[in-house]
Amino acid sequence: MRCPKCGFDDTKVLESRIHDGGRSVRRRRSCVACNYRFTTYEKEESFAFSVMKKDGRIEPYNRDKIFRSIQIACQKRPINYDQIEMMIARLEKQIQESGERTVPSQKLGDLIMNSLQGLDKVAYVRFASVYKDFQDPSEFMREIHSLDKK
Ligand SMILES: [Zn+2]
Repeated sequence: MRCPKCGFDDTKVLESRIHDGGRSVRRRRSCVACNYRFTTYEKEESFAFSVMKKDGRIEPYNRDKIFRSIQIACQKRPINYDQIEMMIARLEKQIQESGERTVPSQKLGDLIMNSLQGLDKVAYVRFASVYKDFQDPSEFMREIHSLDKK
């Protein structure tokens, strides 16, 4: 963080406080070079919300878990790490903008499927097969056919 007074590139954080119901953090900073003190309001990078499972249990949103499940679906597909990162960032932004603090796991899954569908059909079907818990190949085929129609 650059000092607004002298432009020096390093500041010390004196105090951090959650602000605006957890959407941002208020920080008191002081410049390492000239000691100038100022306040910043920073948006938290990982927006915290909860996920409600099908059986009604609520757990904190786990970015790593989502990342891994997408990564598995994208194995050996022409999708790189950055694309998955961007996809998740978009998804988090959508949820953040909706203002929901508890998101049903189904909605989360749907959002991921929507993004994957536009990115890679194979990854999409793989993710859908895990997410929708396909029991037999005919369900798999139905999903693929429904893709053709879209
Ligand atoms: Zn300074």
